[in-house]
Amino acid sequence: MEMPISQSWFARATKVIPGGVYGHTSPAASLPLRFPLYAEYGEGCHYTDPDGNRYLDFLCAYGPVILGYHHPEVEKAAAEARSKGLVFNHPTPVMVELAELLTRRVGFASWTVFGKNGSDMTTWAIQVARQHTGRKKILAIKGAYHGVDAWTNPSPGGIIEEDRIHIHRFAWNDIDAFRGMVRNFKDQIAAIILTPFHHPAFGGNQLPAPGFFEAIQETCSKEGIVVILDDIRAGFRLHANGSHCVFPIQPDIACYCKAIGNGYAISAAAGTERMRQAAGQVFLTGSYWNDPVAMAAAKTCLEVIARDRVPEKLEKLGSQLLEGLERAGKDIGHPLKGTPPAATPYIVFDGDADLRKMQRFSGLCSERGVIFHPHHNWFMSAAHTPDVVEHAIEVGREALKHINDA
Ligand code: PMP
Repeated sequence: MEMPISQSWFARATKVIPGGVYGHTSPAASLPLRFPLYAEYGEGCHYTDPDGNRYLDFLCAYGPVILGYHHPEVEKAAAEARSKGLVFNHPTPVMVELAELLTRRVGFASWTVFGKNGSDMTTWAIQVARQHTGRKKILAIKGAYHGVDAWTNPSPGGIIEEDRIHIHRFAWNDIDAFRGMVRNFKDQIAAIILTPFHHPAFGGNQLPAPGFFEAIQETCSKEGIVVILDDIRAGFRLHANGSHCVFPIQPDIACYCKAIGNGYAISAAAGTERMRQAAGQVFLTGSYWNDPVAMAAAKTCLEVIARDRVPEKLEKLGSQLLEGLERAGKDIGHPLKGTPPAATPYIVFDGDADLRKMQRFSGLCSERGVIFHPHHNWFMSAAHTPDVVEHAIEVGREALKHINDA
């Protein structure tokens, strides 16, 4: 793929934007050289860059585009809301309808609040837990991403020790380490924040080991520790009512974001009755948070996810992809393993601790028009079809043949 126009945009960007492209989409964030720099137009499971190169997308905007770009029903709902106004002095009725819908869906929840990004909700949720318990400490998993706020930002830039003095991390699935921390910090732990499965950057997905969530749940309920489920990446992809319906975890508060609005900016937290008072006491707002367009989009998106049984579809398509790539890896002599859940698939090559192979594979696929991220889990969308998945497997097979080329 040639991309002179994108390169010229990048050259202009470096003059007026720090780093040209910053954050996780920056070329400096270990993305392959031939990864597209900019996007311009999306339709279904494809998008084009400013040079007109067309990509089959298995990243889906890092998750939000669960139904595909330009989903007609979501766009119609958003357009209708937009025609009435973008933001007002007050919330709008659609906010109440969306809260009713989410509260009905998310079985344990009796209330819902909204923000714009995932970080808004994870940070607010730990504040609610602190307000509820009067305690300071938060337990989290090593390598788990919960957003860009100082208590959890994975990069050291601008962070001071005091930002994280009460954040304590232990390894995923390590029940003994968890129990040790609970003993050490008796009556000091406000909350534990967990993702429904571990999806570290630079590694494969890891499911909860048998007994892990059960042990956490039992100890937290005995010790009065609030359980926060960070379902921002996985929520409503694995189950139309949230990932707690798939794994044995019953949170006090769950945070959602990526699959809610099919790309419209919205996040949500939902909680149990016992958290309601504290939730009302932690100030929550933002200039654009009462956004009826995103809320109308979200209402439609969540309805479509349930109506069209999207989670089952994603599981099936993702399994087809993982099994196909595993087969190709075996045939060509570069064995690899698919890591489930298949709705958020990712592969790990045997003996590729430094991810060199994965990096090469991702770059070669990108050159051939298929976007497989080198070190972040991928996302299936309802716009993928068995045919495009088969095409992606064939592209993957071709890439594997050239993985050792100079
Ligand atoms: N938690 C998890 C599990 C996430 O995957 C993300 C986003 N990748 C966040 C929190 C933060 O969400 P946002 O980037 O929307 O602030």
